[in-house]
Amino acid sequence: MKLQEYRAKTLLLEQGLPVPAYTVVDNAPAARTAAEGYLSAGAGKVVIKAQVLVGGRGKAGGVKLAASADEAAAVAGQILGMDIKGITVRRVLVAPAADIAHEYYLACVLDRGARKVLFMGSAEGGVEIETVAAEKPGAISYIHAHPHLGLLDYQAKLLGFDLGLGGHLRDFVAIAKGLYATMVANDADLVEINPLAIVRTTDAQTGLPVESLQCLDAKITLDDSALVRHPQLEAMRDLDEEDPVDVTAREQGLSFIKLDGTIGCMVNGAGLAMTTMDLISRAGGEAANFLDVGGGAKANKVEAAMRLILADPHVRAILVNIFGGIARGDEIAHGLVEARRAQERHVPMVVRIVGTNADEAARILAAAGDPDIQTVFSLDEAVERAVAAANEASVPAGTIA
Ligand code: GDP
Ligand code: MN
Repeated sequence: MKLQEYRAKTLLLEQGLPVPAYTVVDNAPAARTAAEGYLSAGAGKVVIKAQVLVGGRGKAGGVKLAASADEAAAVAGQILGMDIKGITVRRVLVAPAADIAHEYYLACVLDRGARKVLFMGSAEGGVEIETVAAEKPGAISYIHAHPHLGLLDYQAKLLGFDLGLGGHLRDFVAIAKGLYATMVANDADLVEINPLAIVRTTDAQTGLPVESLQCLDAKITLDDSALVRHPQLEAMRDLDEEDPVDVTAREQGLSFIKLDGTIGCMVNGAGLAMTTMDLISRAGGEAANFLDVGGGAKANKVEAAMRLILADPHVRAILVNIFGGIARGDEIAHGLVEARRAQERHVPMVVRIVGTNADEAARILAAAGDPDIQTVFSLDEAVERAVAAANEASVPAGTIA
């Protein structure tokens, strides 16, 4: 799950990281009020930033400076409602604009291959790191944190020197360690600051110019599997920006991943689902999705699963493979028959239900008298028939990519 910048910044602040003040608003008058506050407190300008879960907002016109409250209201009005990479901007962040001396990149990410947290830093910050990686790979420094002790001081110092941050080393070490702490505290798999900037300010007492490191942008991705441990983070989910298919799947407790094939799969158990997909592939077909309805699936869950499968226009056949244990075959069969009645689009369906109450399941399916349903006991045969049905399905050429 990705967090919006303003949510990510609250997590950085919780770990004591330097983040400039900010306010989040959803209308231009509120942006004006926020800007008035910062400008009267001494800010020369304010920055208005679109809050959408995509990168490169700056380039897309979603990050702008304003020198007065009127201008802030006008800029906020422009950005709100703007379309950035297919997402409509509903909120903007208003903050005192930083006077940037240099932009750096700093991130930590879960490196599954190494089973460690990997830190990445670059003095070429501000732009998307993929661009730096492609054009100037030598400009990115990498260091793995210690697997048990986290990012050690000497590691953070090495990285800081690499980035040319010798003059800000103490602050840099604290920030890098703060990123690690943010990652661990929230079960994140990515914490990215781009830009981490050297910002010029004036010392309030001496009136002399001072420079400090500030986190001006923040991107955090949380580990979905760990969200049960963080109800307060689950509440930060932005449903507006999620795929409706993912929302339905989560609400119904279904593990659903859309794929590119033509055979919709409904299976209980992740291992069985993967086996089923392998067999489909061996028989010359391609799965349209991974779908684990879970143990103890009830009729309503089966119906929801069917809806998700049929929402994909590429699906030409459905293969149901249920190994009844805690899940009862008759429950599943009832769900299938019900779902079938409720669906507008009918595609051939091959059903293999074995295990608990399989006989009853077969009776229920036979009694439904649906010509589109074939029941099969052998998995190999079920797969073959599903692949054949998908290939036979009469679809006018050119309508399906
Ligand atoms: P992104 O494009 O989605 O990554 O959004 P960022 O928050 O990183 O902003 C993009 C760019 O806008 C930054 O790299 C900066 O160059 C610029 N920017 C962002 N905030 C400020 C600010 O407070 N002051 C100034 N002068 N520029 C800013
Ligand atoms: Mn950025």
